[in-house]
Amino acid sequence: MDKALSEIYSELGISEKTAAFGEEVLKGLKERFARIDEIAEINQLKVLRALQKNQVSEACLHGTSGYGYNDMGREKLEAVYADIFHTEDALVRPQITCGTHALALALMSNLRPGDELLSPVGKPYDTLEEVIGIRPSKGSLAEYGVTYSQVDLLGDGGFDYDGIKKALNDKTKLVTIQRSKGYQTRHTLSVEEIGELISFIKNIKPDVICMVDNCYGEFVETIEPSDVGADMVVGSLIKNPGGGLAPIGGYIAGKKECVENAAYRLTSPGLGKEVGASLGILSSFYQGLFLAPTVTASALKSAVFGANIYEKLGFSVLPDSTEERYDIIQAITFGKAEAVEAFCQGIQAAAPVDSHVTPIPWDMPGYDAPVIMAAGAFVSGSSIELSADGPIKPPYAVYFQGGLTWPHGKFGILKSLQSLVDKGIVLW
Ligand SMILES: *Cc1c(COP(=O)(O)O)cnc(C)c1O
Repeated sequence: MDKALSEIYSELGISEKTAAFGEEVLKGLKERFARIDEIAEINQLKVLRALQKNQVSEACLHGTSGYGYNDMGREKLEAVYADIFHTEDALVRPQITCGTHALALALMSNLRPGDELLSPVGKPYDTLEEVIGIRPSKGSLAEYGVTYSQVDLLGDGGFDYDGIKKALNDKTKLVTIQRSKGYQTRHTLSVEEIGELISFIKNIKPDVICMVDNCYGEFVETIEPSDVGADMVVGSLIKNPGGGLAPIGGYIAGKKECVENAAYRLTSPGLGKEVGASLGILSSFYQGLFLAPTVTASALKSAVFGANIYEKLGFSVLPDSTEERYDIIQAITFGKAEAVEAFCQGIQAAAPVDSHVTPIPWDMPGYDAPVIMAAGAFVSGSSIELSADGPIKPPYAVYFQGGLTWPHGKFGILKSLQSLVDKGIVLW
């Protein structure tokens, strides 16, 4: 190892043994990293092409105030998103407060009383349980008379096509497909798999709206779910597409009618996309989007590195050390609460902000178990920045993601390992 590198690692609390182990693991990852860089290159050019095609100009970077009529920067940004996702339209707004809000908005604006929502890929993300009303909540879809049905994945992770066929009925209006594993230990769906599922569903019921929860998936592959038949793709700007610079926001890209419904619900019937001042936020949305492909690549490298480190140490990791990646999340199952806490504390100690604080588990709104989160981020709660979280419940798995730069991601993983070593959980 480079002498200057080993010196600075040592100053930052990484022992020689931990650092050497990291370098050894890294030696085997050259080809993986080269492939990640190739995908980033394609996506970088895809973003650039969309910016150029829409003739984004300096004036687009300045926002509007008040009602926000004729906000050219906002309108062009939405056109840029639509071009990247190959959709008819897009809604990209700071008024969409987070990923859950974007998903709730897409669902609530496109479903009407008496309709049914189907999830053919098992239980959706924790926070959506209250949106749907799986766990009763004020204002849920259930309260508005929208029913829900769910078909779980098969034991081998495949789609239960028979079950899905049976579940589709006259009332089924919208199908929600979560690309990423979220807080589950299932595998993440590839865009290709999502395409197969959508074709199957549309063959049975062509008019059903297929929505994909795209959180954490953007720019991981060279195609997106909207390239394989999804009518709507939905996500958060404090994840991949914000590139770490967007301080808030969400997006919905899709069919004109779906996006229009969402816009009318976000602002007001009659107003739709025409209002919504962008204030001073647009330059961070544009620049973040521009950086998003390489930022996503850094996050992917960090995830692959982490999987290889922890698999070699005997922990169960998902995806495993060699698997193809379809999102930026890495799950590691530790089997005990202390290890989840030690891991998250190590990630926190590696952060550029708040590295001196110690995260502890707490009851977060929207989650049904205490969650520990490590997030020393420039943007509060941003999970495209190196972050880790784990619900304190069996199987005591930790999920980590992000890393705006690969050197930081690498350091964070080494720091997490050092924390486990220091607590006597990993024994050299
Ligand atoms: C993060 C995430 C959400 C919710 O996003 P928030 O911004 O945390 O509200 C929904 N679905 C998936 C798969 C996610 O990863």
